[in-house]
Amino acid sequence: MSVRVAIIGGGVIGITTAIELNRLGYDVVVLDRNEPGSREAASFGNGGWLCPASIIPVSVPSTIWRWPTFLFGKSAPLSGNLLFAIRNARHFARFVTSGLTLERVRHKAEALSALLSDSADRHLALARKAGLRHLIKKDGLLYTYNSEHAFRRELRWWNLRRDLGVKWTFLDQKTLRAEEPGIERDCFGAVLVTDGGHCIDPAAYVKGLADYARQAGVQFIKADVVRLMHADRRLVGLETSEGMLAFGAAVICGGAHSRHLARQIGDDPPLLSERGYHVTVSTAHPLKRPVMFNDALMVATPMLDGIRFAGQVEITKPDSPPNWSRAQALLDLTQRYFGTLPACIEEPGVSVWMGHRPAIADELPVIGRATAMENVHFAFGHGFTGLGAAPATAVLAGQSLQSNRLLSPEISPFSPQRFSMRTSRTV
Ligand SMILES: Cc1cc2nc3c(=O)[nH]c(=O)nc-3n(C[C@H](O)[C@H](O)[C@H](O)COP(=O)(O)OP(=O)(O)OC[C@H]3O[C@@H](n4cnc5c(N)ncnc54)[C@H](O)[C@@H]3O)c2cc1C
Repeated sequence: MSVRVAIIGGGVIGITTAIELNRLGYDVVVLDRNEPGSREAASFGNGGWLCPASIIPVSVPSTIWRWPTFLFGKSAPLSGNLLFAIRNARHFARFVTSGLTLERVRHKAEALSALLSDSADRHLALARKAGLRHLIKKDGLLYTYNSEHAFRRELRWWNLRRDLGVKWTFLDQKTLRAEEPGIERDCFGAVLVTDGGHCIDPAAYVKGLADYARQAGVQFIKADVVRLMHADRRLVGLETSEGMLAFGAAVICGGAHSRHLARQIGDDPPLLSERGYHVTVSTAHPLKRPVMFNDALMVATPMLDGIRFAGQVEITKPDSPPNWSRAQALLDLTQRYFGTLPACIEEPGVSVWMGHRPAIADELPVIGRATAMENVHFAFGHGFTGLGAAPATAVLAGQSLQSNRLLSPEISPFSPQRFSMRTSRTV
């Protein structure tokens, strides 16, 4: 008889993992307190990027000098609650130290490359199987630079990406203007990531994948998972808002809400919610393909229902009300590039959203077996890249479950045990 596995969380990581485990022959049940594709999940409102170049972490040796640009100014990309940040100082110290040397940055880039190098192709294959091919595009992704100085400052990271197999080419000002006439400002140039892709409706995609999983035999239960029940180092079931349910194994895919479940079984990965925002303007697309405006740290993605601007990192209590001035800040930034868009988030045709990026302090997700529990596995903490990384994560989560099989070496940088020395407790 096949093992009954609970997937806790029905965001893009949970659903792709469910599809993979179903393919491997497990009896899979997805539990989520919301419907798949609902706006409470980060998977609902992201920028849709499937980007092989998103392997360079935010924390690099020079980040420390850029804090003033990140923090100050009305449209600055980083904001939050100072007290909350101080209370979590250890998390941020770990974030900074994880990128202090070139070796550490390279280690992370190599690790993330295993999840992202063929992200668009993996999504295309999955979308084809699920009848969702129309939601995935592979037209490349652009990173614009306003000055030669700004581009040169990043060149070493573009070279590292190239070393690790990312295909990119530089477009000068004239070529960029011809490629993307909708960008009204003159930029110095742009990098075109040729193998990049995007999803034109992330919420419909997750919902469509969930429907596909359901047809393949995956069961869905709408429930809040409150507690992991265990005996003799093994999970035996889950206490949920719908009662006790028995399971032979579980994978925690709860995104930014995963930490309290991991703590119950002795792991304490340094996970925080980094809140982000989007503004979608329903208008004819001024862009042919998605663009990252590097000076604004904001992406603009042509979506099914308009153009979506996504970005901002807000460090605050996860349950505090959204600060819509951060969404307005995104819209203000668009004025630098597109003069004709609405100026205010309250205008007709403009919709806004706030969501929780699951951010691990060292910017690598946690994928693998729990330290003290043989049949509990983790797949969460994908920060800025969870949509892109989902299909490869699902494969690694599948390997983790099949503990009798050899794990591929790609999984080791994501091991939950990288934090165990300091944090794991006996349960
Ligand atoms: C503004 C913004 C832009 C982004 N842009 C991109 C992008 O362009 N490309 C990219 O690759 N990534 C992007 N990301 C990141 C990406 O969205 C996330 O990394 C990804 O969606 C995380 O997926 P997840 O399934 O782990 O978490 P989620 O999508 O948050 O899903 C977690 C699910 O678990 C459920 N859950 C949690 N705990 C429990 C519990 N105890 N009981 C029941 N249910 C539970 C929640 O209800 C939720 O549905 C962006 C994020 C933001 C905020």
